[in-house]
Amino acid sequence: MSSSTSTTSDPTEQLERIGASEPTTAFEKWRISLSEFTGLGLTEDQKAHRDSLREQGKLEKDWDKCEGFKTDLMTNSPIITFLLQHLKSAGCEFPSSSIQCHPCPESRSGGFSPDHGILLCQNRFFSKKHMEDTLAHELLHAYDHCRFKVDWMNLRHHACSEIRAANLSGDCRFTREFKRGFYSFNKQHQACVKRRAILSVLANPSCTSPDMAEKAVNEVWESCFKDTRPFDEIY
Ligand SMILES: [Zn+2]
Repeated sequence: MSSSTSTTSDPTEQLERIGASEPTTAFEKWRISLSEFTGLGLTEDQKAHRDSLREQGKLEKDWDKCEGFKTDLMTNSPIITFLLQHLKSAGCEFPSSSIQCHPCPESRSGGFSPDHGILLCQNRFFSKKHMEDTLAHELLHAYDHCRFKVDWMNLRHHACSEIRAANLSGDCRFTREFKRGFYSFNKQHQACVKRRAILSVLANPSCTSPDMAEKAVNEVWESCFKDTRPFDEIY
């Protein structure tokens, strides 16, 4: 970067300049808005109040954005509408109300629960595409739950669904797209699917070690990686 700035942008100096030339009330307003913004010059109570307002604003903003993406994807995304259609015809319709936006801790971006439906972690999406991958992943779990009576505490069952979800959602999109042009990248896609499936199985309460997760994934790998239902092939 080589821009030569002739005017200073030191906020203290600006503050002094404005303080000298503007009416006190306007200056006070400005000073207060600055301190609200930076957190300077506030009592602990004021800070806590400011933080809770900011938090609420962020929660609302995240929620609005998440709901907007969700509605758009449920209407316009080919993979999402395809999966919703298959869930419906399998007798497990997923209305908008069973897919919920919520704030989550950093370690996840979504979840599926047979009792509660699908969770979308509203604070964890960096793009609509990212949400599409996550929603497709969770809908594949929902599809498996609907079609195959999965016992989620059984690690082999869980591993199978994670392999399918990682393989058929966009989770490993990057490697998948490479695979189209270069056959040798096939192995990279498989490695991505396997790695992600192992990580997901590791989060199962019945899983007590990485070895156990890896074993479960390896045991069902051949049949579950090949099983591309409801897709005819990886598209
Ligand atoms: Zn999963």
